[in-house]
Amino acid sequence: MKARLELLPIDVAGEWRPGNGEEYESLYPATGEPVARLRAASPGDVDEAINRADRTFRNSGWAQMLPHARAAVLHRVAALIRERSEDLAQRQRLDNGKPISETRALVASAAGTFQYFAAALETLEEAITPSRGAWVTMSVHEPMGVVAAITPWNSPIASEAQKLAPARAAGNAVVVKPAEVTPLMALELASICEEAGVPRGMVSVLPGKGSVIGDVITRHPLVRRVSFTGGTATGKHIARIAADKMMPVSLELGGKSPTMVLEDADLDHALAGVLYGIFSSSGESCIAGSRLFVARRIYDEFVTRLARAAGSLRVGDPSSERTQMGPLITAGHRESIERYVALGVSEGGRIRSGGVRPSGAGFDRGYFYTPTILEGLANTARVSREEIFGPVLVAMPFDTEDDLIAQANDSVYALAAGVWSRDFKRAWALGRAVQAGTVWINTYKQFSVSTPFGGWRDSGLGREKGREGIFQYMQQKSLYWGINEEPLAWAR
Ligand code: NDP
Repeated sequence: MKARLELLPIDVAGEWRPGNGEEYESLYPATGEPVARLRAASPGDVDEAINRADRTFRNSGWAQMLPHARAAVLHRVAALIRERSEDLAQRQRLDNGKPISETRALVASAAGTFQYFAAALETLEEAITPSRGAWVTMSVHEPMGVVAAITPWNSPIASEAQKLAPARAAGNAVVVKPAEVTPLMALELASICEEAGVPRGMVSVLPGKGSVIGDVITRHPLVRRVSFTGGTATGKHIARIAADKMMPVSLELGGKSPTMVLEDADLDHALAGVLYGIFSSSGESCIAGSRLFVARRIYDEFVTRLARAAGSLRVGDPSSERTQMGPLITAGHRESIERYVALGVSEGGRIRSGGVRPSGAGFDRGYFYTPTILEGLANTARVSREEIFGPVLVAMPFDTEDDLIAQANDSVYALAAGVWSRDFKRAWALGRAVQAGTVWINTYKQFSVSTPFGGWRDSGLGREKGREGIFQYMQQKSLYWGINEEPLAWAR
């Protein structure tokens, strides 16, 4: 019999101990085996963590540290992530089942994010505004206090770093609520922050069910801001609570991103981009290019090549360097994807590739699914409109560019889009006409921490990344500094 895993402590504002919530196990999606056992945070733990975080914020001196001194600590966080990168990548693979090549990239991105925000903090400038009287006027920014980061399971270390780094740079105490099924990376980051010199209590990691813990965090009166990444329904729920508290939120939500292949595209490049855009991360990606529009003249040739290439993708063991697609996150999520594929077929769609669980050794216990291409469906079909969040692509031909733009923009989502064309003027025009927070032209799913990211419409509110990202976690204040020689004229 296997020994039971040791109970993993959680971080209740610097106190590392099991939570008082339900006990549960985090499972390796490739085998269903437990990789960690922990007790979730209870609502009482949340209240304790937030109250202590608030006291630490006011007393630890972190918020008052000069920017270059705070930046030095963030640089140490980046260095420690790099030092432990292989261990972190392996743990993240076990936590959410992504192939090791992807989890290594996520860890590198997390280190880069801390490094970037350290540099941004040290060089951030406040403004002296043009004076319109006998005063010097300034616009300055101050930390908010306790802020919360609520993250999903698909890219834990990267999305947690994306919130923690700017929030810490801004001087706040941060309470992180990772997805219940992927708690490990947030706990590792909290421990690294502490080791790097962030005062104990300034970071908390509170795993547990979002509907319980997430709700308590969002409603807590001492939480001054929530940065949320997750589904649109949850995002709207958080926005409603925030409205009552008059609390700023940023919401990075779902997508149904169109990829457009024009007849003059470099088809080898487009093929690689479309495949990567939808099937990397097993399609569990907010920016997955899940709606494909191809010029009718090249549609058959392109989709035939695409289906062949999708059928040859290497699905399997996430620990292998060669694996391109690992398992889905949970058995329940795979069932939801299977229901969507069946729905697509019942709506009149044909399966051009995949549409089944892979069979054979190595696939029996994990939550694997083959890369799937559906065609014969309109942009109005439910599988073309709803976010599936898995390896399912809906391919459609288009006739004119006006029709293409109308269809691409006909979605409640507007997170990302891709354009493939050799004609730079057409590509430019389409890139400007498509409504999306990010447009990739002749590339797809590439990221830079120095470039803002976020969605329009049901894909979200606010932006992350970029120098200005720090200001999202600060309050702006205007200062008027009187330099009158005489008392104010009115009183004279
Ligand atoms: P969810 O919205 O279900 O969950 C996201 C996070 O919110 C989890 O930590 C979850 O906790 C928590 N949560 C759930 N209910 C509440 C609540 N009532 N109050 C506060 N927090 C809550 O999304 P998924 O986990 O299903 O993640 C996938 C979604 O995330 C997709 O729609 C995807 O598009 C989106 N996403 C968006 C990205 C972007 O940058 N735009 C990037 C990545 C994903 P728990 O899981 O523990 O219940």
